[in-house]
Amino acid sequence: MAGSKKNGGQGRHCCFCGRGEDEVALLLSGIDGYICADCAKMAADYVSELEHKHEQEAPAIQVGELQKPKAIKEYLDQYVIGQDRAKKLLSVAVYNHYKRINHNLVEKPDDGVELEKSNILMVGPTGTGKTLMARTIAKMLDVPFTIVDATVLTEAGYVGEDVESILTRLLQESDYDVKKAERGIVFIDEIDKIARKSDNPSITRDVSGEGVQQAMLKLLEGNVVNVPPKGGRKHPEQDFVHVNTENILFICGGAFEGIERRIAQRLNTQVIGFSAQGKQRIDKDNLLQYVSAMDLRGYGLIPEIIGRLPVITYLDALDRDTLKRILTEPKNAILRQYEKIFEIDGIKLVIDSEVLDLIVDTSIKNKLGARGLRSICEQIMNDAMYEAPSSGKKSFHLTLDYAKSKLENQI
Ligand code: ADP
Repeated sequence: MAGSKKNGGQGRHCCFCGRGEDEVALLLSGIDGYICADCAKMAADYVSELEHKHEQEAPAIQVGELQKPKAIKEYLDQYVIGQDRAKKLLSVAVYNHYKRINHNLVEKPDDGVELEKSNILMVGPTGTGKTLMARTIAKMLDVPFTIVDATVLTEAGYVGEDVESILTRLLQESDYDVKKAERGIVFIDEIDKIARKSDNPSITRDVSGEGVQQAMLKLLEGNVVNVPPKGGRKHPEQDFVHVNTENILFICGGAFEGIERRIAQRLNTQVIGFSAQGKQRIDKDNLLQYVSAMDLRGYGLIPEIIGRLPVITYLDALDRDTLKRILTEPKNAILRQYEKIFEIDGIKLVIDSEVLDLIVDTSIKNKLGARGLRSICEQIMNDAMYEAPSSGKKSFHLTLDYAKSKLENQI
């Protein structure tokens, strides 16, 4: 007798739902029983759902694969010249960050020790490699990366961009894959520009200063944030994407112009307060190396933000020697790029060493630092790049006189 097992049917039936073979479209046979097409499909869906969930829970970077701090620094060395202290600190912070994700997510700590996130603050003059460092780390880790300028952010309700738009960009970088975005790196540039404008916040509303810092806090401390997927202003009818910022690494950078004065003041008071004897000598030419949370607070960052940026490092101003090395040493150094451009046309580019000095000196004179190197090179190389490809020559010799004549032409 066919029919459902539940109703006492005796024939072949699905071992999962109990329906008889005359009640289902297809009955597949196994060693000891049968499964109907509906149950098989449901099981397949369930398995794939579990697999998907597992994939999503798996960290983007396994500890085994994760490069050790020394290897991270060696990678950075290929692209970023100098800045040894910052590179070391950043390598350790990044290593710990992804180790922490694995520890908290995969190993499910039962010892109660949850590792806390350590966002990073880099203090240093503009054009010294802060963005470059953050970008290089993200490239190495193959995680989504975005740069935002803190100056465009305002408190919700005012002209400008909401703080959540930072995450919109990270989502866009991750092709709207939320899980991927949640392991990304955000570089917030010019964080010093949202410092509190005055010590008395009650006089005028500080919509682009303290207000933004308060809003940013929500992101830095690790929360589920409603993100407008297309950016712009949040409005009630919009669908939001929920992004958890718990594992997003925030690296903030700022020039903090004039902070040296505060550092000097603090160091002086300390020296007066204690006996100067036995104290380390202070290197007055590079006060930034002593930057501390206290100085940042004096500058106008609110204590809660400073608390969320526990790794503080500084970058050195670029001296002549470093600028010269930047021209030739990084893996994608500017001059290597020009050599490549000529090489594609079968032309060997030969550059006299005096030309490097000229480029560096011009950049220093213009107060452009490393940022200016490229535009100076462009001024020098432009005519050559125009003429050389159709000249039929196999080499191009860049002499000091040629370079000088091109720079003079521009004035
Ligand atoms: P900022 O400190 O203002 O974020 P960037 O990282 O944007 O500066 O630097 C601007 C450009 O100058 C970079 O794209 C890079 O070409 C060059 N540069 C700056 N500092 C370094 C450095 N230490 N090593 C190599 N290149 C550098």
